Amino acid sequence: MTALSGPQREATSRRRFLAAAGTAAAVPAAAALIGGGPLAGTARAATPGGLPDYAPIPPGALGPALNADGYFVGNIHGNLYWVTDSVYQAMFLTTGDGVVLVDAPPTIGHNLLRAIGAVTQANGRPANVTHLVYSHSHADHIGASSLLGADAVRIGHSECRRLLLRDDDPNRPAPTVTFDDHYVLEAGGERLLLDYHGPNHTPDNIFIYAPDHQTLMVVDVIFPGWVPFKNLAVSQDIPDWISAQDVAMGYQWQTLVGGHLGRLGQRADGDLQIAYVADLLAGARATVASLDPAPFFAKYGNNSWAIFKAYLDAAAAEVAGPVIAKYLGKLAAADVFTADNAYVMFEALRVEYGMLGPFGDHP
Ligand SMILES: [Zn+2]
Repeated sequence: MTALSGPQREATSRRRFLAAAGTAAAVPAAAALIGGGPLAGTARAATPGGLPDYAPIPPGALGPALNADGYFVGNIHGNLYWVTDSVYQAMFLTTGDGVVLVDAPPTIGHNLLRAIGAVTQANGRPANVTHLVYSHSHADHIGASSLLGADAVRIGHSECRRLLLRDDDPNRPAPTVTFDDHYVLEAGGERLLLDYHGPNHTPDNIFIYAPDHQTLMVVDVIFPGWVPFKNLAVSQDIPDWISAQDVAMGYQWQTLVGGHLGRLGQRADGDLQIAYVADLLAGARATVASLDPAPFFAKYGNNSWAIFKAYLDAAAAEVAGPVIAKYLGKLAAADVFTADNAYVMFEALRVEYGMLGPFGDHP
């Protein structure tokens, strides 16, 4: 435990984060800068500091207010709870034996323990964390796991263990209980089903299902109220990440814990993101067929990488334009990450779906 040790370090980190959240909250003031036109609300005139302005966040994308410590903890159903700092999320079950925690994002950090303490004090259940489930190996979701102490049983996919042994990060001890396909976690009268459906965002990302509470947690796949994070959530397998959205919707749930941002998800959030992603894919198919590569070849001659860069950038912009216009006001930050998402979708269309466009003609 290095990066998170010491109260001073923690306080500094929290202040920095709250300051960032304050900046975000100020963004709606920029609404006055947004005019009409087909791309209303896309990045416009830069501020004097050189930073672009973006459209205001739709109120429905935001979650509950944070407390003075910088977090919110809420009940989902029964003994199931969630915690957020408005950017990251964790979930926990209070059981008769202690707490089962899913993920430990470092931005929430010690507030996880505060949230668990407050809830268990109120409901009279033991506060010790008996089990810690890793959604996947990424440090931004489990990098505070060392705060939970050595006694908690750590559970993750077998590939998660392999990756964490490779990473050798003291903040992320490898899980000692692993599984390949399915695992039923029963503790103190409560139950979680852990399922692996193949690679998507990462090779080890799992679905955590609480059937008694009609709740699914799957991280970095569906982003309730918001467009997916940059580059389709920096996912390592785009076709399987796209399919993972449908796998998620195939579970019987009323509440989704997406691992990011400030609120929980409902089924309509999944449907809306699936439509957004499908529009990106359809746009990529249309653009690969229509975008004329001749100007890029003519301009850059023997500089093959310049040809590719200019062509791919132009393609991403062409794909993104109508998608931004369609989803602005419906999905938060459509003007922030759609161009990056379109770029990744276009490249996935070429190299994974095999529609290579002008770079695929057999001579
Ligand atoms: Zn991740």
